Amino acid sequence: MLYLIRYGEIGLKGKNRRFFENTLTANIQRALRGIPGYRVWQSHTRNYVEVPDTSSREAEERLRQVFGIVSVSPVVKVPLNLEAIKAAALQEFAGIVRPGLSFKVNTRRANKRFPLPSQEVSAAVGAHLLHNLPGLSVDVHAPQEVLDIEIREEEAYLYTKRIPGPGGLPVGVAGKGLLLLSGGIDSPVAGWMALKRGVTLEALHFHSYPFTSERSREKVIDLCRRLAVYGGRIMLHVAHFTDIQTELRLKTPERLTVTLMRRMMLRVAEQLAARRKALALFTGESLGQVASQTMESINVIERVTTIPILRPLIGLDKQEITELSRRIETYSISIRPYEDCCTIFLPDYPATRPRLADVEAAETALDIPALVAGCLAKTEVLEIRDDR
Ligand code: ATP
Ligand code: MG
Repeated sequence: MLYLIRYGEIGLKGKNRRFFENTLTANIQRALRGIPGYRVWQSHTRNYVEVPDTSSREAEERLRQVFGIVSVSPVVKVPLNLEAIKAAALQEFAGIVRPGLSFKVNTRRANKRFPLPSQEVSAAVGAHLLHNLPGLSVDVHAPQEVLDIEIREEEAYLYTKRIPGPGGLPVGVAGKGLLLLSGGIDSPVAGWMALKRGVTLEALHFHSYPFTSERSREKVIDLCRRLAVYGGRIMLHVAHFTDIQTELRLKTPERLTVTLMRRMMLRVAEQLAARRKALALFTGESLGQVASQTMESINVIERVTTIPILRPLIGLDKQEITELSRRIETYSISIRPYEDCCTIFLPDYPATRPRLADVEAAETALDIPALVAGCLAKTEVLEIRDDR
């Protein structure tokens, strides 16, 4: 089966276009890895994919997940002459015809050396279908089926189907970001949204072994594996947060724990981002969900960093986030019931409106540079691949 791949926003990016197209081609290639005998190539600002017919369903499924693809059409390739085009059109339509079906033919002639203008090709092919398939009618305004014909340099392409892709930009064109990945529902969705805008992702997870289990770590690895389906390989940094949490518990007021913990996470994340050459942090925060996500909290927490913090979910409701997480298949992993480091020491009454002065006063009890350095020193890095 031969497919024509359409991309959207790439076309708008002027002289970066080449880079975008090559990145998309490489990503398509990676997504199809494992399908026997697949081929991917570019020609005249298009991407084509060819796979054995027995793998077409699998290939379509995978192409639906490659960011940058607007739609995919299974196409029939025919020699550049009207008789061949008519015959192929008839064969294509014979498979989908039903009583009362309305259609139109839409021809584009990129190859101006082809002797017939587009309109005439459409008219001739339309007439051929009407003549041979009883029950068809033409409707140019609201047809039920459209037969597209593209006349290109060496051959013509026919198609009737457009399978929607995920849109967005090819992963790899937007620079690197560092995702703060918990085991919850939100942050994997935030990561998916970053990938959708072409960001190359690395992930950072804080765990509090032995307070959190090996299982909660595996959960995060599985989330990364799922994200890798959309983004290719993901480097996962697993940071040891236990010492910091213990210190906070010993030396700072309990109602500020959440704020102080988040500030420590951001400090560690910012340094890791610098090492890994990531240009922004991504989190799964939305507004107003929990104590640490009021505007006041966000304000006080974010003051510890200068690196931009992007929050792709900021305007979404929990329900919208949950729907997305089901769609991208992180939900079933996220709901596994293991403790997160942020839930284990949660105070009964966390401050929803922490004051910066109080927070800074509490932090004077801590040797922050040493805590950050200690945490980074105990951070391990894992390479997580899409292992389909
Ligand atoms: P999530 O569903 O992503 O866990 P949440 O609604 O539980 O989000 P919080 O617990 O307030 O919200 O966490 C806010 C954000 O902080 C998370 O979305 C994530 O980006 C980051 N975060 C929280 N816990 C961790 C962790 N253990 N490791 C790394 N990042 C974390
Ligand atoms: Mg959480």
